[in-house]
Amino acid sequence: MNELKLSKRLETVAGYIPKGAVFADIGSDHAYLPCYSILKGIAKGAIAGEITDGPFLSAKSQVQKCELTDKISVRQGDGLSVINEGDTVDCITIAGMGGSLIKKILEDGSSKLNQVKRLVLQPNIHAISIRKWLLDNGWVLINEEIIEEDQKIYEILVAEIGDPLLPYQAYSLEANLLLGPILARKKSPVFVKKWSQEYNHWKTIVQKLEQAGHTYENNEKYRELTNKMKLVEEVLLL
Ligand code: SAM
Repeated sequence: MNELKLSKRLETVAGYIPKGAVFADIGSDHAYLPCYSILKGIAKGAIAGEITDGPFLSAKSQVQKCELTDKISVRQGDGLSVINEGDTVDCITIAGMGGSLIKKILEDGSSKLNQVKRLVLQPNIHAISIRKWLLDNGWVLINEEIIEEDQKIYEILVAEIGDPLLPYQAYSLEANLLLGPILARKKSPVFVKKWSQEYNHWKTIVQKLEQAGHTYENNEKYRELTNKMKLVEEVLLL
């Protein structure tokens, strides 16, 4: 991977950055996504935000190497705190972190979202935390993608300001939040693979719990997993 050839995961994220946008890539690490998006003529400007020293320095040197210091501002800070008034950021990308951390970044930085028109979020796990946050904060999912790369499955969530309930028409709210309302409707082969694997994994644990003693923890885990299995059954008709 480099500034001209992204991983399939980041290329999918880049595909949702609106043409001509100024975007902030939070947790940019190597800054490949901002560099690629400018070099390919997708975005006209970007902020690469990083909290950690090493990745921040690596983003800085990558932007210098690509001679893009006039188009990409590399800033060190926590989450959306790197966005200043007057930056006119219209899109935010956050990729390669857990869903709970992405949700926290959005929650903590909610005052920076006023002018933002689109969020492109790629949680490695727990996309459910992000879907809940979007639902509670007036963002509508306009698309969801699920892809497989190097034996790992990734979800990409794209949201804009709008009626959050719009995509939540088929299935129960709980099933939609866990599996993704748009992904559940599309039911791509990768989606079916992910949830069949999860389902079988939970089934094995549930069988073990049935044989184990009835402690409080075991009972709670049993309830949690059997509930999630029912949600998967609802969508996959298992
Ligand atoms: N976005 C890149 C990608 O998808 O390939 C890099 C993902 S990397 C696994 C996560 C990066 O997010 C790390 O470089 C980490 O330092 C940064 N990070 C974690 N928490 C952050 C926060 N609160 N604010 C900004 N950056 C953060």
